[in-house]
Amino acid sequence: MDTQVSWNITDIAELPSVSGGELGGEYTFAQFHFHWGSVSTQGSEHTINGIAYAAELHLVHFKTEYGSLGNAIKYDDGLAVLGIMLLGGLIDNPNLTPIIDGLATIQNSGDEESLATMFPLQNLLPANTNTFYRYSGSLTTPTCNEIVTWTVFQDVITISENQLEEFRKLLGDDGEHHIVDNYRPVQPLNGRTVEKITLS
Ligand SMILES: [Zn+2]
Repeated sequence: MDTQVSWNITDIAELPSVSGGELGGEYTFAQFHFHWGSVSTQGSEHTINGIAYAAELHLVHFKTEYGSLGNAIKYDDGLAVLGIMLLGGLIDNPNLTPIIDGLATIQNSGDEESLATMFPLQNLLPANTNTFYRYSGSLTTPTCNEIVTWTVFQDVITISENQLEEFRKLLGDDGEHHIVDNYRPVQPLNGRTVEKITLS
């Protein structure tokens, strides 16, 4: 269960894409969503050197040559997800304002609202995108297919406690309980290697 933002654009050529960064091809943006905690000492799905963050942003991309998200999940290299840690603090992050304002209009699980303000996806990336952790892993939601090339940036972005509260106010499917702690606990490595890459 999460809050997902997707684009109402159907022409693949108009969608943002990522390539380089040792991804092995071009990936087209599909959606982004957040995971967050009930308190700011938890919420991220990854930990970096044992540290969990208040929230984690996932920018989900599918391999462009597979044509769509639905088709790409059939392939081992179908998806590339960029993971960005959100460090809780006191000061509002103005780059998150269009999203936070959008949350305020959502009353029920499954509601769809258009964001009033468009913004470049670049605004959601940390200042330094040259250093990141890379591994092959799975989707963190069922069916957890092992088809994701993960890129978790070492640099973080910030979010204020007030902004986090707007996420924590969202109601789940039962219309009663708030959506919090919608992150999957850290999984064992199971022999996978996590590579730290610094692009020069
Ligand atoms: Zn996610």
